[in-house]
Amino acid sequence: MNALEPRVQTLNNRPPRTDGDYVLYWVQANRRTESNHALAWAVHLANLNRVPLLVYEGLTCSYPDANDRLHTFILEGVPEFQADLTRAGIGYLFYLRRTPADPNNLVYRLAEKAVALVTDDFPTFNVADHNRSVPSRVEIPYYAVDSSCIVPMNVHEKRAWAAYTIRPKIHRELPLWLKPLPFTPPSVPWNEALLPCDVAECRTPVSRTTIPELVASCAINHTIPLSKSLRGGTTEARSRLQHFLASRLSRYSKESGQPSKKATSELSPYLHFGHIAALEVALAVRAYAAEHKLVADEFLEELIVRRELAFNFSRWTPKNETLEVLPDWCRKTMAKHANDPRPVTYTFEQFLSAQTHDPLWNATQLEMLTEGKIHGYYRMYWGKKIMEWSPTLDEALRTMFRIHSIYALDGRDPNTATGILWCFGLHDRPWSERPIFGQLRYMSYDGMKRKTDIAAYIRQIDSPQATLL
Ligand SMILES: Cc1cc2nc3c(=O)[nH]c(=O)nc-3n(C[C@H](O)[C@H](O)[C@H](O)COP(=O)(O)OP(=O)(O)OC[C@H]3O[C@@H](n4cnc5c(N)ncnc54)[C@H](O)[C@@H]3O)c2cc1C
Repeated sequence: MNALEPRVQTLNNRPPRTDGDYVLYWVQANRRTESNHALAWAVHLANLNRVPLLVYEGLTCSYPDANDRLHTFILEGVPEFQADLTRAGIGYLFYLRRTPADPNNLVYRLAEKAVALVTDDFPTFNVADHNRSVPSRVEIPYYAVDSSCIVPMNVHEKRAWAAYTIRPKIHRELPLWLKPLPFTPPSVPWNEALLPCDVAECRTPVSRTTIPELVASCAINHTIPLSKSLRGGTTEARSRLQHFLASRLSRYSKESGQPSKKATSELSPYLHFGHIAALEVALAVRAYAAEHKLVADEFLEELIVRRELAFNFSRWTPKNETLEVLPDWCRKTMAKHANDPRPVTYTFEQFLSAQTHDPLWNATQLEMLTEGKIHGYYRMYWGKKIMEWSPTLDEALRTMFRIHSIYALDGRDPNTATGILWCFGLHDRPWSERPIFGQLRYMSYDGMKRKTDIAAYIRQIDSPQATLL
C-alpha cells in the first residue's frame, strides 16, 4: 500500500481518463510544495500514468466576506509557490476571478483533459462545500487528501468528546506520521502546450509588485485594511518559525499565557492558508528542542492535539456555526439562563468598533482589527465577554463568527469553530453555576489583571510601531 493512502478519500467512483493529458491538483488549502501530501499523491498518480502534473489555484471575488486583507495574504503566497512548482517541472495556473461576470468553471474545463483530479481535504468553509458538490460533476476520479493534520483525520472514526479523549490516540499514532515527507518531482515534466487555450488565456500573472493593483481590480470589500504585520507566503512563514525557535520556544511554556511577552509562534494564518505545514513546524520544533535541551510539549500539544481535535470536530460536524451542535449539558444550562438579566449589552457595531467600557476587551478587538488575529489567551476573554454583553447567546455566536470571517487571517478554519464554540462549553466541562453563563466557564477582568500584564498589552496595541516580530 502507498503510505499516503490513509490520507486519501475518493469522493466519486469514476474511472481515470486513460488518454488524459495530465493529472490535475486543485489547490484549495495547502499552498506549498514542501510537506504537502496532496501534492505528493498527485505526483504519484502522474508518475503511475506517465503524464505531467498541473496545479490549479483559483481566487474568486465571490467567497463570503472577500476583502483586501484576505485577498492580499493569499496573493502574497502565489509568486513563490509558482516558482517552486516551475523549478520542479510542474505546471501552475493561477486564476483571479475579479468580478462575478468572469468565468467560474476553470476547474471543470481543466478536468476535461485530466486523468484524475486531486484536491485538499479541508473540512470547513468553501473547500468542504466544493468537496461535496464537485465530485459528482467531473468524469474522472476525485481524490481529497488530508495534508492539514499530522495524524490523518481518517484515523479517527468519530467525533471526539474533548482533548482528553483524542490525545491518547494521537500520541499512539504519532510515531507513524511525524516523519519528513521528502518532495519528489514528477518524472514527466510539464509542457505548456498541454494547457487548453481557452483556459490559458484566463491565467493571471502575479508578482509582489502587482498585488495591490490586482486586489484593487477585484469586486470585493476594499474597506478592510491589510494586517499591520502579517505578510503571506512560505518564506514569511518560515522566517516566523525561525524567530519562534530562536527567541520564543524556550519561553513558551511559561509565557504563552502572557500576551504582552509575545512568546507564541503567530503561525496560525500561515497554517490556515497552507503556506506552511503543521508537519514542518512540528519537526522543526522537535529537532530544535532536542538540540537545545528544551521541552516543547506544551507547544506540540496546541499544534497537534488541540488543532487536530478541531479538524476532527469539523470533519464530523460539517454545519457547525450553531449552538445546536453543543453537548446536552451546555444547551441545558444556556436554556436555563437565557432570560437572566444582562446589565450591560452592546450592539454588533459597538463590538466591531471596540466601543465597550472595558479597555482590555477594546484592545483585543483592536488587535483583531489591525493584525487579523488575537493572542490565544485574550481571545478566550474576547469571546466570553461577547457572550456576557450580547442580548442573547445566539447573537453572541453570530458576532464572533462574523468578526472572524471579515477580519481574521486565521479565520474560516476548523480552529475558528472550536475556538468560538469552546466559549460556549465545547470540549470543556461544567463549572459552578452563575448568572448568564450557567455552568459555562466564566472569565473576569480581575482574573486577567491578576494573571497578565494588561497595561503592557494595551501599550503594545496602541503603539503605531507595534509588530509581532
Ligand atoms: C474565541 C476563539 C477563537 C479562535 N479562533 C481561531 C481561529 O480563527 N483560527 C485559529 O487558528 N485559532 C483560533 N483560536 C485558537 C487559538 O487562539 C489560536 O490558534 C492561537 O491564538 C494562534 O496563535 P499562535 O499561532 O501564536 O499560537 P501558538 O500558541 O503558537 O500555537 C501554534 C499553533 O497551534 C494551534 N493552536 C494553538 N492554540 C490552539 C487552540 N486553543 N485550539 C486549537 N489549535 C490551537 C494553532 O494552529 C497555532 O497556530 C481561537 C480561540 C478562541 C478562544
